[in-house]
Amino acid sequence: MSSLTEALQARLSRVHERINAAARASGRDPAAIALVAVSKTFPAAHVLAAAGAGQRAFGESYVQEAVRKIASVREAAPDLALQWHLIGPIQSNKTRPIAEHFDWVQSIDRLKIAERLSEQRPAHLPALNVLIQVNVSGEATKSGVAPEEVSALAHAVAALPRLRLRGLMAIPAPTADPIAQRRPFAQMRLLFERLRDQGLALDTLSMGMSDDLEAAIAEGATMVRVGSAIFGARS
Ligand SMILES: *Cc1c(COP(=O)(O)O)cnc(C)c1O
Repeated sequence: MSSLTEALQARLSRVHERINAAARASGRDPAAIALVAVSKTFPAAHVLAAAGAGQRAFGESYVQEAVRKIASVREAAPDLALQWHLIGPIQSNKTRPIAEHFDWVQSIDRLKIAERLSEQRPAHLPALNVLIQVNVSGEATKSGVAPEEVSALAHAVAALPRLRLRGLMAIPAPTADPIAQRRPFAQMRLLFERLRDQGLALDTLSMGMSDDLEAAIAEGATMVRVGSAIFGARS
């Protein structure tokens, strides 16, 4: 095993321990929480090393970088079945490569983008899994739909033929205070439950990163997106 694989294996184990401890603390099943390893800015070799340590789902923020990386990984390991998640902002002229190369898109915040992805999803691939990104209170970026607009967008996206709406995603503003961290996550969980009460078959609440995954899991996250705690600091 390469030293890179060994290093990533140790960090992945630590992240799994954190997920397990947080799940147990809330009486939740750790198996109900998926880990997406955020590999943005790291080369294909790091993805391959993490895959060698058992990781299968990877998150990318920049389309061009991701498409190149996905191709390199596929060339190096043609039989390795990985799951690629787009987690970054989407420009409408970039939807075709997204529809062709990703398994999940977590950053849907406009119907127009969702419509284009549905139209451009190749027929030989399964429906594209999507999450709606919500701009919860204290959001660090301008991305994401306002909470009061989530329901209308969710119902419209759920009706698109080549997309499968799985749930919601958020990136709350960073704060070191564990109590303050939980507030936007709790708000997300309420939005998520309200949509399910409205009849949408959703199973994924993507929230929590390297510095706040415990708070997110305490509030019901079913998917955490972890970058620096696995791959190290981004330059
Ligand atoms: C970069 C990024 C992450 C990972 O952040 P870390 O703090 O490195 O864990 C998670 N989600 C999104 C949307 C990101 O852009």
